[in-house]
Amino acid sequence: MEDCLFCKIIKKEIESQIVFENESVIAFKDINPQAPVHILIVPKEHFTSFLDVSYADTQLVIDIFQAAKKIAQKEGIAEKGFRFAVNVGDEGGQIIKHLHFHLLGGRQLSGSLG
Ligand code: 5GP
Ligand code: ZN
Repeated sequence: MEDCLFCKIIKKEIESQIVFENESVIAFKDINPQAPVHILIVPKEHFTSFLDVSYADTQLVIDIFQAAKKIAQKEGIAEKGFRFAVNVGDEGGQIIKHLHFHLLGGRQLSGSLG
């Protein structure tokens, strides 16, 4: 989608530190990390938010979860634990309107999500 920052990152028009990529998913380091490991896992297809995902996208959802698992293992945070989170809409704290999942780890994360 034009004028979408993450679509531009996917097309490599904007630089990012890519840690994983396959046909359907790309993952890159967050530019403003909130933890020692902070990676964004992003479907290559443009979905504005989580609310746009339907049963037709079942394989994509599996791909995203598999990517998260692989990256967590590769980054060495799988054993100790991590957070896998998605922000939805304005009150959910979603700033970039292209669906993405945050993979956070490498420090003790607070129990509160607020
Ligand atoms: P949201 O608040 O939409 O769930 O998260 C958007 C995330 O994208 C933020 O954590 C922010 O730091 C990250 N971000 C924003 N712009 C860029 C960018 O140009 N490159 C990268 N790698 N991350 C970005
Ligand atoms: Zn997009």
